[in-house]
Amino acid sequence: MIEVTNVTKSYGLVQALQGVSFEVQAGEIVGLLGPNGAGKTTMMKILTGYLQQDEGSVMVDGLDVLNETKAVQARIGYLPENAPVYPELSVQSYLLLVAELRQIPEDEQLLRISEAVYATGLSQHLARPIGQLSKGYRQRVGLAQAILHRPKLLILDEPTIGLDPTQIVEIRRLIRSLAQSSTVLFSTHILSEVEVLCERVIILMNGQVRTDARLADLASTSDAILVLERAAEGTPGALRRLVGVADVQPFDAVGGYPAYRVTAAPTADADLCPRIFQLAREMDWPLRELRPDVRTLESVFNEVATPDDTSTLVVTQ
Ligand code: ATP
Repeated sequence: MIEVTNVTKSYGLVQALQGVSFEVQAGEIVGLLGPNGAGKTTMMKILTGYLQQDEGSVMVDGLDVLNETKAVQARIGYLPENAPVYPELSVQSYLLLVAELRQIPEDEQLLRISEAVYATGLSQHLARPIGQLSKGYRQRVGLAQAILHRPKLLILDEPTIGLDPTQIVEIRRLIRSLAQSSTVLFSTHILSEVEVLCERVIILMNGQVRTDARLADLASTSDAILVLERAAEGTPGALRRLVGVADVQPFDAVGGYPAYRVTAAPTADADLCPRIFQLAREMDWPLRELRPDVRTLESVFNEVATPDDTSTLVVTQ
């Protein structure tokens, strides 16, 4: 559905995107995660044809965004960072205006509006001026305009920014239900948002893709954590000699127990726990705990981030 290849974009001296490449398959819901200034909005504006890249190519549904902008825009529903809603218009008048702009045939407009209004839970608010709605409901209006023309692809720029916790939960639920009929790419600087909404994450920092992976793949590693009841002589050395072990780092586990983080070699074909368990039995180590070292999105983010990158990132909201 999306194919971005080697895209660069500068604003004067500021290089907002540097050689960005990624793909999104039809039906996926993908989170574009990054701190403030990472380049998320710039990437989304380029994808939707509102800004042109300096170099590289961007294809949406097999069409080149630069050459076939109108056709691409007809396939995309876009919720920009500040939803373009007119405060003085009622929800219904605004959606009728969008239906006109989207060139939806007149005899279909009411049907499309009811579909969008139903999907976004706005039925009780059709007659109210948008300016009198809460921020969460204004965001729903923004989502309603984005889905009015039944787009194949939804691009949502920070859809929950500025909302209170209840509104955030509701908008996330809404995005999940919209994802059943469209491919969704949304940007966020909230780690937990990615964890609750997506199967895949693209981490963008300083205009570059640092990670592009399925969340399940990020979490699974062959690494292991070993905790002993008390120190046993020669433990790190014996662990290092195990087949498939690249590194062993001691640390103090909760309670002060001696513990080791055992890192698997990149070529290791299975998790290390069974081998470590076998070794612990042979060496008669006083085993307290042995488990895979599961990575969270936060730990992955910290691995790829510099101190500057993490300054504006929110872990949970
Ligand atoms: P945020 O989460 O704060 O919206 P972002 O990840 O969406 O950030 P962008 O808005 O794409 O990042 O900005 C990327 C870089 O480009 C930043 O350094 C920003 O200051 C710069 N930038 C963005 N728009 C412009 C512009 N119109 N003129 C000059 N610089 C810009």
